[in-house]
Amino acid sequence: MRARLDRFISAQTGIARKDVRGLLAQGRVRVDGRPATAINQVVDQFSHILLDRQVLQAKTPVYLMLHKPTGVVSATRDDHHKTVIELLERADSSSLHIAGRLDFNSSGLLLLTNDGKWSRALSSPEMNISKVYRVTLENPISTSYIQAFAQGMYFDYEGITTRPAQLKIINDYVAEVSLVEGRYHQLKRMFGRFRNRVLELQRIAIGNLRLDTSLQPGQYRALSALELTNIQGAPELTNR
Ligand code: URA
Repeated sequence: MRARLDRFISAQTGIARKDVRGLLAQGRVRVDGRPATAINQVVDQFSHILLDRQVLQAKTPVYLMLHKPTGVVSATRDDHHKTVIELLERADSSSLHIAGRLDFNSSGLLLLTNDGKWSRALSSPEMNISKVYRVTLENPISTSYIQAFAQGMYFDYEGITTRPAQLKIINDYVAEVSLVEGRYHQLKRMFGRFRNRVLELQRIAIGNLRLDTSLQPGQYRALSALELTNIQGAPELTNR
């Protein structure tokens, strides 16, 4: 949300815009602790706005990392299964949304926020933020997978070719894959081309942000300021 200050105050209070000008001129409005006098000052969803002593808006941005367990849905509501939102013991959990879903049977790093601008930026194709998954397969993996993943695969249903993905073989049954997009069941479908079924799938990184290994499945914590600023950029595949 971005709006002009006079419009915002008028919409929140019902005071006519011409009268809001007077309030601003009298110094009765404060934005983020400072007197605001310009009608065209732009405020957003996290601006702290006071009219005299009345708080018109005080919303703090929230950024959480959750270790998603398998068997919960990446959704805000579901009629049949527990959702990731229900795992959060927070009064504000219903104001949060998911920045990049994981399948029901997948686990690992899931981000939750109330900042729509941030979550849109994270998933925008221009940002090119990679996500790294550790995948356990039913059958042995061969080196031929590496090129097939790098070349991209044509998905008939969407009529697209997947963007180049890096695959690293960790052992005969485990690979790490880095993707810059998130198509429906993407990795299951990509390994499915080799008739190799995914047994376990865990997201271990989003950009430079790694899943905190001290978080047990179902646990979560706030992102640090440093993690927030550093998230952009390519994650390293582990050196093993
Ligand atoms: N690919 C999948 O198939 N599932 C996920 O949850 C993520 C990537």
